Amino acid sequence: MDRRAFLRHLTWASLAPAALSVSACSPSHSTPPVSAPDSLWVHAPPEAAPALQTSKEQWRTLLSADEYRILFEADTEPPGSSPLLEETRTGTYLCAACRLPLFSSKTKYKSGTGWPSFWAPLEGQVDTKRDMKLGYPRTEYHCRRCGGHQGHVFEDGPEPTGLRYCNNGLALTFVPAGKPLPSPRT
Ligand SMILES: [Zn+2]
Repeated sequence: MDRRAFLRHLTWASLAPAALSVSACSPSHSTPPVSAPDSLWVHAPPEAAPALQTSKEQWRTLLSADEYRILFEADTEPPGSSPLLEETRTGTYLCAACRLPLFSSKTKYKSGTGWPSFWAPLEGQVDTKRDMKLGYPRTEYHCRRCGGHQGHVFEDGPEPTGLRYCNNGLALTFVPAGKPLPSPRT
């Protein structure tokens, strides 16, 4: 099955109750992630790094209180609050905790929801889990390396994936093309 056929299959296979919302990082049904092609990299892909064992107490000392609450207590920032909503430069979005590259500017789009939105993460950089906190299933995604919560993924995004990765701006750090990526936290 080629990539487009796979995406079609994914969409049709998961159409069940289509309670789609374009208004928030809220209602939708669970969605498996779709990998993004390597061509989305703005900076060079990093060397594979092992999962971090940094404790929550250590993260608390490294991050602001707001960053910590989102990344390690799965909170959500107020809609419309992130300066990254207006960021249109070419570059890479890193995990604000461990600095693993998570998204390319090539997949960013204006969703109108009030949160920075992307139609795909960089391949292999996020993991997902089922989230029932609101009483119905959502797909939470987080940084593969440090486990820091980023947001939720919904099926009302644009082509080519049809997915919307609804991300907290405080959980990301933007690095424009031409500037070196900061060293990952270890
Ligand atoms: Zn991370």
